[in-house]
Amino acid sequence: MRALLADLHIHTGLSPCAGDEMTPPAVVRTALERGLAMIAICDHNSAGNTAATLTAGRRAGLAVVAGMEITTAEEVHVVGLFPDPAAAEAASTEIGATLPDADDAYYARFGPQRRMDADGQITGTEPKMLAGAAMLDLSAAVQLIHRYNGVAIAAHVNRPSFSVLSQLGLFPDDACFDAIEVFVPCDPARPTGATAVWAAQELTKLGLPVVSSSDAHFLGDIGRCQTRCDMEAPTFDELTLALRGVGGRGVRCA
Ligand SMILES: [Zn+2]
Ligand SMILES: [Zn+2]
Repeated sequence: MRALLADLHIHTGLSPCAGDEMTPPAVVRTALERGLAMIAICDHNSAGNTAATLTAGRRAGLAVVAGMEITTAEEVHVVGLFPDPAAAEAASTEIGATLPDADDAYYARFGPQRRMDADGQITGTEPKMLAGAAMLDLSAAVQLIHRYNGVAIAAHVNRPSFSVLSQLGLFPDDACFDAIEVFVPCDPARPTGATAVWAAQELTKLGLPVVSSSDAHFLGDIGRCQTRCDMEAPTFDELTLALRGVGGRGVRCA
């Protein structure tokens, strides 16, 4: 069993709110510099840059998981992690079908949505309003992720916006999440917020594994929160086993 550090929630320049610097090779290079063995790419409502980042990761020796951060109709953020880019993109296509087309006014307000290749070259622009809410509710979003054999994670539950708690006021027992994500900076110079501690303690009572991810929108944020994964190899299959605690595997906030 190996103790591997992972950051399972990172955006690329496909997300309108992320920095232009978030190209597949730059994200991969920075993750390796921070000692991470595995990352997941989770852009808002699209998996359009996951395949390119997996390729960049393969070249550089970093495990990259294809993901997406869905904004549900209740404006709850749900991270979906998938076995491969094809599954992530198929789920992404379903989400995209519920989003309006972006126009010039949208791009001017929210920023560009850049599809890139593994070298970081821009290959196109995502035409849907990724900053919007998809027209499916929380339960449907979790079901969609599971239908593509993905893992559904309640994103940044200790944040005051776009989290299950901030939007619903409670954590539904029947939400069928596979894990909970908290934002707990691992840098001791940055004190852990009381809410983060509360969320981690309270939500652990639900019996779900808790991961800590950076939700990085800029290179400097990558790895600021990490999850230690005890597993045999940095693969999606091993990660799913670690989340379920199978065979001595496990996850915990690093
Ligand atoms: Zn979010
Ligand atoms: Zn995010």
